[in-house]
Amino acid sequence: MKKSVKITVAVLIALCVALAAFLLLWQFDVFGIFKEYKAVPVITLAGSKKIVTEGGEPYEDPGYKAEIDGVDATDRVKVEGSVDTRKTGDYVITYSLTNFKDRNLVSVQRAVTVTDNTAPVISVKGDKKVRLMVGAEYNDAGATAADKVDGDLSKNIKIESTVNTAEKGKYTVTYSVSDKAGNSAKAVREVIVSKLSAGSVVYLTFDDGPSENTIKILDLLKKYDAHATFFVVGSNIPGNEAILKRMVKEGHTIAVHTYTHDYAAIYSSPEAFWKDNEKTRNLVKKVTGKTPVIMRFPGGASNTVSADYCKGIMSTLTTQTKSHNYEYFDWNISSGDAEGDGVPTKSLYVNMMSGIRENYETPVVLMHDSGAKGTTVQAVALVLKKATAEGYSFDALDETVPAVHHGVNN
Ligand code: ZN
Repeated sequence: MKKSVKITVAVLIALCVALAAFLLLWQFDVFGIFKEYKAVPVITLAGSKKIVTEGGEPYEDPGYKAEIDGVDATDRVKVEGSVDTRKTGDYVITYSLTNFKDRNLVSVQRAVTVTDNTAPVISVKGDKKVRLMVGAEYNDAGATAADKVDGDLSKNIKIESTVNTAEKGKYTVTYSVSDKAGNSAKAVREVIVSKLSAGSVVYLTFDDGPSENTIKILDLLKKYDAHATFFVVGSNIPGNEAILKRMVKEGHTIAVHTYTHDYAAIYSSPEAFWKDNEKTRNLVKKVTGKTPVIMRFPGGASNTVSADYCKGIMSTLTTQTKSHNYEYFDWNISSGDAEGDGVPTKSLYVNMMSGIRENYETPVVLMHDSGAKGTTVQAVALVLKKATAEGYSFDALDETVPAVHHGVNN
């Protein structure tokens, strides 16, 4: 073998040995020479890798941490991708990092889904309860709608209205809207069309009947084409069913006063009161087919006698009427017939006429049609004649009439 060939072979072997040594060193790196090159970054996501978030609120990433070979490298992480919570859908955020020698790229992804399960919010402009007189013009004030994801949806609001200003009644305007995700919302405005016009409509009310006097009062009302409200006592109904039927037939309102009119019993507890009240209501319903929605507290809501039996009961009862589907009425004009039996007709008449001429917004006159109130019947005749001649008309209370409430004293 030539000398030059020997040298070449020796060099090749040396190179192979060197390469093998390098590869072994690289592979096992026992002296840690290539540690920095070989280091693999570690990215740890805080929170879940799959996040479902409700649209509308700004997206806040739960964050991440990164380490390279035990050294914190969080601030080297590159974050790509963003979440637009004004648009539902799937988003990806990518967190990537190389080691300190810009090698070994590591990427971690987080999937974010923006959903929309929140209904829009409708705001009714102006009053949610509007009162009008028959014949008045109704202009709806409209509504606005806002959705967390879709923004302003006011233009998409659908309005349905039952308002008929030609006829007195309780009407509704319904506003409805849906967002792109199909969540819907509804709001309602109540429109009450009433006959009320600055005291020209008077509401005569009779408590404690029915009795034989009630028939005389019904005859008088008929004569003047007038309507009234009868706050009946349930225990007086048996035997007088025909009177109640006639009241309904002739357009009067039957309202609930009490069953027993026994203060000690009905004002002993709210439960006792409602039990007594419902007994009367059910009886009226049974006799007339109509369920009363108006009531009056014996003694009025302002009575203090109830405090002898249950402290604070009137405060409780007056807040419970709505949940029992009632409106309660007190009065602002007193005939004075509660002061005794046989109060002179003239006195009752003067009390009532002066009260009516006060032109209360809602004049509600208190009278009694129990058997001992004969002078009341005579006074009704005089009032109907005089007030009708002065241009007043008489109507029955219903839920379209603004309630007249006393102050509560117990
Ligand atoms: Zn009474």
